[in-house]
Amino acid sequence: MSRSAHPAGPRYADVLPEGHYTAPPADLNALDAHVWSRTVTRDADGVITVGGLKATALAEEFGTPAYFLDEEDFRARCRAWRDAFGTEADVFYAGKAFLSRAIVRWIHEEDLNLDVCSSGELLTALDAGMPAERIALHGNNKSTEEITRAVEAGVGRIVVDSFQEIARVAHIAERLGKRQRVLIRVTVGVEAHTHEFIATAHEDQKFGLALGGGQAAEAVRRALKLDGLELLGIHSHIGSQIFDTSGFEVAAHRVVGLLRQIRDEHGVELPEIDLGGGLGIAYTSEDDPREPYEIATALREIVTRECRAAGLTVPRLSVEPGRAIVGPTAFTLYEVGTVKELPGLRTYVSVDGGMSDNIRTALYDAEYSVALASRASTAEPMLARVVGKHCESGDIVVRDAFLPADTAPGDLLAVPATGAYCRSMASNYNHALRPPVVAVKDGTARVIVRRETEEDLLRLDVG
Ligand SMILES: *Cc1c(COP(=O)(O)O)cnc(C)c1O
Repeated sequence: MSRSAHPAGPRYADVLPEGHYTAPPADLNALDAHVWSRTVTRDADGVITVGGLKATALAEEFGTPAYFLDEEDFRARCRAWRDAFGTEADVFYAGKAFLSRAIVRWIHEEDLNLDVCSSGELLTALDAGMPAERIALHGNNKSTEEITRAVEAGVGRIVVDSFQEIARVAHIAERLGKRQRVLIRVTVGVEAHTHEFIATAHEDQKFGLALGGGQAAEAVRRALKLDGLELLGIHSHIGSQIFDTSGFEVAAHRVVGLLRQIRDEHGVELPEIDLGGGLGIAYTSEDDPREPYEIATALREIVTRECRAAGLTVPRLSVEPGRAIVGPTAFTLYEVGTVKELPGLRTYVSVDGGMSDNIRTALYDAEYSVALASRASTAEPMLARVVGKHCESGDIVVRDAFLPADTAPGDLLAVPATGAYCRSMASNYNHALRPPVVAVKDGTARVIVRRETEEDLLRLDVG
């Protein structure tokens, strides 16, 4: 089998998507600190290490594929967000990015609040000891059981998403003799994507109640009348993987406009604004995310300015980062099984996982980085596509990657920034066994979500 060096120059430029980098990095062994979690380095033997442990030893102990989560990095990101927003704002970790009982405990210990959007996430949070008053329940179609469980537990807030739900939550709370704190989720006519945001006149999506057209104002009217509800404020979430604050600026302007309308119409100033999550992280060296303190400063400034202009007391602000906290903290470790050169095209490197442990590339055309983890290499770069082992040609992990041309079966590859929306969206496609999540800290590795077993698969199949 030939694994000759592929000079990744003009010969390959035509197969790269528009706007994609066309030159390999200067040093294939280098690990960009923006993309990798903070304790990741390459040691003297050339092996990638995290929390002081070698990827080779981790693979031996826990198998591949597996997610390795840098606990020190996770906690540091929690603290950075909490400190950036200080005491006059609340940070809610969006549990849907990745949730386990260990994560809930870390969030609690680091003094963050928690967003859940299903009964299962709520169960996990409560089971791990998260105080209910620090939990917010989201979702566009919460079941009666989910709402009842949340109200009974005493969750701090429910973010209501429709007229039916306003009535439903009020009814359940009244029946239980409670008054449930709620926020109303509105759509502000802004959709943010990565590097730009699109201001739209009409919202064509399932979440929230539209500001334009008066649905949001009508929802407020109804919520204020119901004894079972205490209306805390307005919620807006504009998108994901956002790199600048201009979309939030438009959202805050419109939400504050609604607060002013509410004051004028009902004589009440609602005490809270939640601007949601969606802050971007670096999946590749091309991405340049803002630091939490920059985001906090900008959002505070925007909300304060808008409220002053509207003659309103500045409400309490909350934000809900998911990806920006957990995304950069983990990498997925795979073992290479086959290397297939397509002359004149590229080299396909197949690993022992794929779309069952990372659906984001297939689903959203997401970009990832990848590095040879089990050794350093001085071979030339080759343009590669890292693919999984599933029966689907869209089963791609990293669409365009430069790997050393001597990459071979048995090598370990690490794909960074897989902490968010990878394990949480993992599937059993092709009856794959979902990989474990292993927390690593100070030379110790601990399984926090174990690998599925064949018994797990057969247990659900009742024959
Ligand atoms: C998904 C979601 C978040 C978190 O989004 P990230 O991109 O992970 O920061 C926050 N709030 C709401 C309402 C969401 O739906």
